Amino acid sequence: MKHKTIIEPFRIKSIEPIRLSTEEERIRHLEEAKYNTFLLHSDDVIIDFLTDSGTSAMSAEQWAGVMRGDESYAGSKSWLKMERVIRDLTGMEHILPTHQGRAAERIIYSYLGGKGKTFISNTHFDTTRANIEYSGAEAIDIPIREAYDSALIHPFKGNMDTEKLEQIITEKGAENIGAVILTVTNNSGGGQPVSMANAKAIRKICKRHNVLFLLDCCRIAENAYFIKHREEGYGDKSYREIAREMFGLSDGAAMSAKKDALVNMGGFLALHDEKIAQECTNMLIITEGFATYGGLSGRDMEAIAIGLEEVFEPHYLEYRIRSTTYLGEKLHEMGIPVMLPIGGHAVYIDAKRLYPHIPPHQYPGHALVCELYIKGGIRSVEIGSVMFGKYDEEGQLIPAAMELVRLAIPRRVYTQSHMEYVIETFEEILRTREEMRGYEIVEEPPFLRHFTAKFKPLK
Ligand SMILES: *Cc1c(COP(=O)(O)O)cnc(C)c1O
Repeated sequence: MKHKTIIEPFRIKSIEPIRLSTEEERIRHLEEAKYNTFLLHSDDVIIDFLTDSGTSAMSAEQWAGVMRGDESYAGSKSWLKMERVIRDLTGMEHILPTHQGRAAERIIYSYLGGKGKTFISNTHFDTTRANIEYSGAEAIDIPIREAYDSALIHPFKGNMDTEKLEQIITEKGAENIGAVILTVTNNSGGGQPVSMANAKAIRKICKRHNVLFLLDCCRIAENAYFIKHREEGYGDKSYREIAREMFGLSDGAAMSAKKDALVNMGGFLALHDEKIAQECTNMLIITEGFATYGGLSGRDMEAIAIGLEEVFEPHYLEYRIRSTTYLGEKLHEMGIPVMLPIGGHAVYIDAKRLYPHIPPHQYPGHALVCELYIKGGIRSVEIGSVMFGKYDEEGQLIPAAMELVRLAIPRRVYTQSHMEYVIETFEEILRTREEMRGYEIVEEPPFLRHFTAKFKPLK
């Protein structure tokens, strides 16, 4: 039997117009934005693949929830609902609402971090790393070896290298480990999933050394999709059961609700340990808000509670993952070097292989980001040496391990014809790949430089 097309399992109730532009207009916009697509006006973008964060379309149910939101300062009904949903999902007792993921990170990592501490992750996301390093601690990434080969097929390329984990804990001393952080899915490592077996192995090692094991669980529903379809023994479990099992292995979790909670703002910290939760709550009240709202409005909390249920619906997850795969497979077929297999929330292009003539210190990923905007009005993001590059003592660039460009797909926002347009833009990019030149940075801040750095195209 022929399978029918997997369609968007929703109808459109409310639309947001896209302003179309010409290539000449976009060249001007990009120059005005100092060649940093973060500095563009969103009105000048046709397809915005900058991030899947906070860009989801909410459901009619969520919008109805927004109206029901209880804005009471303390003990809001919407908070109690959000807390109940998260407790039930994570199995953790202490839930702290925060205005977004990095607020949860700042709270927990400033408490666990500090000089002399080491954090270990499959790959720290940029805000995670920044919060850890800002506390004075160091952040070490140990994805499995296969993760560095963008063409290699592996079902769980987001996994952590557990041998290295054991080795680093022993080297540094367990008492100096702030936490082990498993990012699911592994965003900066290509949006690749993490297997339950890997999470179990990490649990075991952390338990043996008495080290805290945390989840960065922004995309735990998408990760559950991959486990159900790729890992032995999970085919009959529901996505929700799989997510619960993974939470059950950890000591705590930080989430940006702007991803798999299908909302535009929000986050939380979930913890088993009462003492840590107490310390974190004190910090929460100083910098975010009272313990029953964090940095959130009642309406945000209501929408999060509903979104965290909707995201586990099988038809939603199937459409979500399949539509990302569709874009990725089409690009792969036409010869664009994409990271394989295609991840959950994004397609990652290996700019080192697309533009082998542009060296890392001329930022091949950034060149592709600019080209995508000029040719198609498509906004993407570089995840390479602009984002993760460092300088040595002589001021020479220490490049990132990979030069990736991420096309992050907002949830429930774009349709198949938008994807066809993106694919056509890549056909143009392929035709002119040899003429492409790199970029230099003319101005940059000390932390998270990709957000505000200014660039110049090289002649
Ligand atoms: C988005 C994200 C964060 C940070 O969350 P914000 O809501 O953007 O502050 C942390 N970790 C991962 C893996 C993310 O994708």
